[in-house]
Amino acid sequence: MRGYPIDQTTLLAKIQAFNGKTKPKAGKPTKGAQWLVDAAAATAACQAAQDYVESNAADWGKIKDLFIDHQHGKCAYCEKLMEGRAGRGDYDIEHFRPKSQVKDWFASTGGQLLPDWPTGQKTGAAQSTGYYLLPYEPLNYAVACKTCNSNLKSDYFPIGGTAEMTGTDPSVMHGLEQPWLIFPLGSWETLPETLIFFDGITAMPRPDPGVDAIGYWRARVTIAFFHLNRNKPLDKPTETKDEEGRENLYRARADQLNNLAKSLDALELLGESASPVRRAMHENEIIRLCDVKSPHSLCCRSFAELWIKDKDKAVQIWEGVLRYLQVGSAS
Ligand SMILES: [Zn+2]
Repeated sequence: MRGYPIDQTTLLAKIQAFNGKTKPKAGKPTKGAQWLVDAAAATAACQAAQDYVESNAADWGKIKDLFIDHQHGKCAYCEKLMEGRAGRGDYDIEHFRPKSQVKDWFASTGGQLLPDWPTGQKTGAAQSTGYYLLPYEPLNYAVACKTCNSNLKSDYFPIGGTAEMTGTDPSVMHGLEQPWLIFPLGSWETLPETLIFFDGITAMPRPDPGVDAIGYWRARVTIAFFHLNRNKPLDKPTETKDEEGRENLYRARADQLNNLAKSLDALELLGESASPVRRAMHENEIIRLCDVKSPHSLCCRSFAELWIKDKDKAVQIWEGVLRYLQVGSAS
């Protein structure tokens, strides 16, 4: 997971200017500007009904491309690269705060996934309505893959604070509700990369629980929630072919780490006396793989840091990742 923070002013300006594939016509509102007008009317209808009311006019799919571009074609939560605009059907617009209802994640799943959850730490209750003033609020949107959005996120929204079901400003609600999940687009948010790092291809909480317990548990909840990790070590095959249902995600991440390790290693083998052209080939590849535009870039960034800090450990991890890719459990 990487951060793609965007503030309200910038996002609204982007939507205002958005016109899909066609050029804006003089005297006519852009598609984005029209969507904002329709979204305001749709929100007024939700306000009157005190519940989510569906609106065809304010269909959020109309501005989905803008989020696909903003997130470089990647899922907000698992960093998987998808097709881009031509494959827009692969992406869901994810409502960070659910629009129709809120289900209790800890009661249904979280309790089993986080058995060491601190006693007395709040988790948020189920709600019969959703955040009905936010279905048409673009600050509540991200694009996500169907596994993260439909299968895993569903209508869950665990919080440690007080539910603000009639809130209208996610930046204010963040402080009051204290969501356990990290929202990668929130400009008010802690960047995901300050809360999560990767040990090899395994996502880990970055904060020390004794220093920043909230940050630590936000990372733990987010990792568990989206099944960001294999539930077995890399050298242990899963009991079923695809136990977590996300084996291809872990393998794609391992592929990226292997590509990065090859360039880090090649650079070292070439030495300082090698031709600048050949060195630059690998240097540019390292930069590309760690860049936010690349899939699984946080995993790569963590590995590049480790390579500098503890080469022996990094090489050991690389060996393990190669064994996993070559044998693995997906055969
Ligand atoms: Zn995803």
